[in-house]
Amino acid sequence: MSTPKILDVALVGGGIMSATLGVLLKHLNPNLKIQVFERLEGTALESSNAWNNAGTGHAALCELNYMPDSSDGSLPSAKKANEINEQFQLSRQFWSHLVNTGVLAAPDSFIHSTPHMTFVRGTKNVDYLSRRYQALKDLPLFNDLEYTEDPEVIQSWAPLLIEGRNSQEPIAATRANSGTDVDFGSLTRQMFAWLRNNNVVVQTSAEVKSLTKTGSHGWNLKIMDTKSGQIDFINSKFVFVGAGGWALKLLQKSGIAEAKGYGTFPVGGQWLRSDNPDLVRKHRAKVYAQAEVGAPPMSVPHLDTRVVDGKASLLFGPYATANPKFLKYGSIFDLPTSLRPRNLVPYVSVALRNFGLVKYLVGELLKNKKRKFQSLLDFMPTAVAKDWTLLDAGQRAQVIKKDSLKGGVLQFGTELVTSRDGSISGLLGASPGASTAVYAMLQVIETSFSSELKNWKKELQKIIPSYGVKLSDNPTLAKKTLEETSKILKLTNS
Ligand SMILES: Cc1cc2nc3c(=O)[nH]c(=O)nc-3n(C[C@H](O)[C@H](O)[C@H](O)COP(=O)(O)OP(=O)(O)OC[C@H]3O[C@@H](n4cnc5c(N)ncnc54)[C@H](O)[C@@H]3O)c2cc1C
Repeated sequence: MSTPKILDVALVGGGIMSATLGVLLKHLNPNLKIQVFERLEGTALESSNAWNNAGTGHAALCELNYMPDSSDGSLPSAKKANEINEQFQLSRQFWSHLVNTGVLAAPDSFIHSTPHMTFVRGTKNVDYLSRRYQALKDLPLFNDLEYTEDPEVIQSWAPLLIEGRNSQEPIAATRANSGTDVDFGSLTRQMFAWLRNNNVVVQTSAEVKSLTKTGSHGWNLKIMDTKSGQIDFINSKFVFVGAGGWALKLLQKSGIAEAKGYGTFPVGGQWLRSDNPDLVRKHRAKVYAQAEVGAPPMSVPHLDTRVVDGKASLLFGPYATANPKFLKYGSIFDLPTSLRPRNLVPYVSVALRNFGLVKYLVGELLKNKKRKFQSLLDFMPTAVAKDWTLLDAGQRAQVIKKDSLKGGVLQFGTELVTSRDGSISGLLGASPGASTAVYAMLQVIETSFSSELKNWKKELQKIIPSYGVKLSDNPTLAKKTLEETSKILKLTNS
């Protein structure tokens, strides 16, 4: 297929964000001329690859960071947890629509029912988990949450947490059977395959080197073939920068005022993986714990069932590593070359104000293999080193942004940066990430395609029935949505 001269939409990056936006836009207007540019030799090779992320369908069922404890012992606020769960419901509905219409293959090619558990130790943490449960249990999106302080019940939910645990310290756990494990890599590749079949050029080994604003035709993209070094140019009315950790770099190159003052704080990661069938058989859950003091929220340890390419394994981690790259296959110069006069203050301020985080990262770096393994033993007392292999995870690129009071703050969520005229938009940050890709890409559509949105609303509601409605305010619709998506996605519990 020949490349169109002027594109309507250029998607930079072959990860889940670009794939989701491309599929959404092609459903809303099949005539759009869309092209994807990916610098690596294939799609879904960076953070969206199954082994580079944890595959948790983040719905705040088990992750304590979305619901920090209150300072006065009252029930912690469920606001953020509710928001994250709402966002994940958009993804579930979108994926259900794609399964129903044959865009995605059988659901077990990308999603599996996997109970989400939280496991805590010690009186203080037990008290917090119990209050967290009280705050959530009657909310429509959390009503399958169970709580126990009984080791026997925990053992029946996840035997590996209890076997060999002799300590008398209090323990507690919650479990939500509606939790999921998602192979975001498979999802991404399937969406790109559908786009290819629908007249979208997905060009790999094609690195966008620069973006220049042109008067009437939006943006001029300079593209380098990473194999031959050949340079090409293309114009596009709209550009989405779905470049993961490199999004900041490209937004800076575009020169848009909205990107000024942002920085990126990279955190590398490692996992322990076990394919021992006896262990895999004994554990079917994603079990999250409390983060260590100073640890960034995404470094909360968890022991997970992962199903990748139809094969189940166990994953434990992540262990944070220090690495200046903004992408796993990025450059060690990513951090230094991102420095600009307008983001120096935020960078310095974050470095000075996050002493706990710096101390934590140094501590993680100094951990030898034995000490790393100790973290797993705290979780799973019978773990044996020979069953586990250390792997490199993807690179997290956290957002640093200007703050009028503090100079700069480190933010653990994602942030959409859009030019004033809406012609370019890019996604910074990594969490909650792939799970909420649909919510994030709907934001892109609402911001950059606002004039078309009126005509697209009906189609959007066909694709995502709860679009525009808050499920947490509508228990009947929440129940119906959970039941219907569970049925289509073949998830055992809602
Ligand atoms: C350790 C870890 C654990 C995680 N766990 C979870 C989890 O459990 N659940 C969850 O929902 N999310 C999780 N995430 C987050 C999630 O993986 C990411 O938010 C998501 O994959 C980001 O998708 P993306 O499309 O923005 O970026 P990516 O998948 O990183 O894709 C960006 C692509 O852009 C390409 N690119 C970059 N620059 C250029 C350029 N100039 N030209 C052309 N191409 C370019 C890159 O090569 C890459 O392929 C995790 C992330 C990490 C790192």
